[in-house]
Amino acid sequence: MTLTPDLLQQHHQFQQKVAAYSLALATMSWDAYTIAPKAGGPYRNRMMAYLQGELFSITTAPEAIERIEVMSTQSYDPITDREIKQMKKELDKARYIPKDIYVAFSELVHNANDIWEQAKATSDYALFKPVLQQLIDQTKVLVSYRNDTRPVYDQLLDDFETGMTMADYDRFFDKLRSDLVPVIKKIKDKMVQKPEWLDRKVPVDVQAKVVDLLAKHLDYSKDTGAISVSVHPFSQDFSARDNRVTVRYLEDQFTSSIFALIHEVGHATYNGQVDVAYDGRYIRKSMTYGMHESQSRFFENMIGRSKAFWLPIYAEVQGLVDALKDVSLDEFIAGINFVEPSLIRIEADELTYPLHVMVRYEIEKGLFDGTLSAENLDQVWADKMEAYLGIRPQTAAMGVLQDVHWSGAAFGYFPTYALGSAYSAQWMHALRKDLDVEATLIANDFKAIKAWLADKIHRHGGVYEPAELLLQVTGEPFNPQYYVDYLVDKATTLYQL
Ligand code: ZN
Repeated sequence: MTLTPDLLQQHHQFQQKVAAYSLALATMSWDAYTIAPKAGGPYRNRMMAYLQGELFSITTAPEAIERIEVMSTQSYDPITDREIKQMKKELDKARYIPKDIYVAFSELVHNANDIWEQAKATSDYALFKPVLQQLIDQTKVLVSYRNDTRPVYDQLLDDFETGMTMADYDRFFDKLRSDLVPVIKKIKDKMVQKPEWLDRKVPVDVQAKVVDLLAKHLDYSKDTGAISVSVHPFSQDFSARDNRVTVRYLEDQFTSSIFALIHEVGHATYNGQVDVAYDGRYIRKSMTYGMHESQSRFFENMIGRSKAFWLPIYAEVQGLVDALKDVSLDEFIAGINFVEPSLIRIEADELTYPLHVMVRYEIEKGLFDGTLSAENLDQVWADKMEAYLGIRPQTAAMGVLQDVHWSGAAFGYFPTYALGSAYSAQWMHALRKDLDVEATLIANDFKAIKAWLADKIHRHGGVYEPAELLLQVTGEPFNPQYYVDYLVDKATTLYQL
């Protein structure tokens, strides 16, 4: 083929086509995870895999490859140059994969998710095990088409967080383990009882009202969002003006929906504040997972577990929730920050949370260096939980089957949760230089914090790599000390250590 001189125009047309397919697939995926009947799964999955195959053909077509290659040798505006560089990196991962292998993998992933849901519901690891092994094997096959000599797991880690390697994560987790485990032990020795009110039953319709109140408080509008229900809470980005979230309601654990909502609104706010001019462009969706978690965990923990956040709304929440009528604000804050080794990652307190992530990280490392397989992974999981957190899951649903990620072949994703949490402490440190965070929250002015995030972080979308943005916004490279200090200070105050 011959390239016309107006490559930039072709590039934008190409992106529009990709965006249209992506929007269709995102809508189908949202539908599948929320209201679609399970019985329609096999047909829906085939159709989604077909569309993904079409999208794959479009993005790996010879003219698309040639255009990206030519454009990557030229200079346009800085944003386009970044975008081309990122697209070339993605293209190089996909271009040598045969389409039939890619489509078969897409279908495997969709079906694996349905099998995982069943397996989790019945706590049957044996049901999930064969498909998990297939996902691991096929991921290795896909990666083998990249012509990249780095270890497979380093490549996967880099997919989710640009620049991160096993060596980096090993250092990071070593620090967390050495600095946090002694604090967890001190708290355990204090034998503080878990507040009884945390287990009180709160009807789902009441929880939904609290969720709505919090959404409003966080300036999350249903004009540009939606709140639905799914097995595993998530957020879905459609465009700057359409960012949706899900929660799940547990009647005897009502704080779960509260923090799921705050967390997912953190993701949705990030997506919703990307410069609207980037709609439909690659650059709008290329934020890393660590960056994304740094926003959701910032909302959930730095903001959502602080007294200043709850002060202006707590009376209203008490008005809705009978279970909180005799719980003072200080008791509430102590309860939502209660530290206790537990089995479920997404319900874990902030201090033990990174250890849950470390369990998954070590398992993934083993799955890709060949020292572990899907065989007995439920037992390996239980052993590691016992070693790091001192508790052992009695069922697979409370252990290896609890998270959706592996059913989606998202190997390399988990470590970004701990990393994002650490970034979020560094953002908070920077925010405090510009704003009195407590006073702003007490004045019920969350919009001011949202505006700071938009200006410093959100509007850029995926233009900058995390390392660049950290330097730009906070004036220094990534520094996990802020995270450790934040966790230790908070625990010291709450538990009078
Ligand atoms: Zn998240």
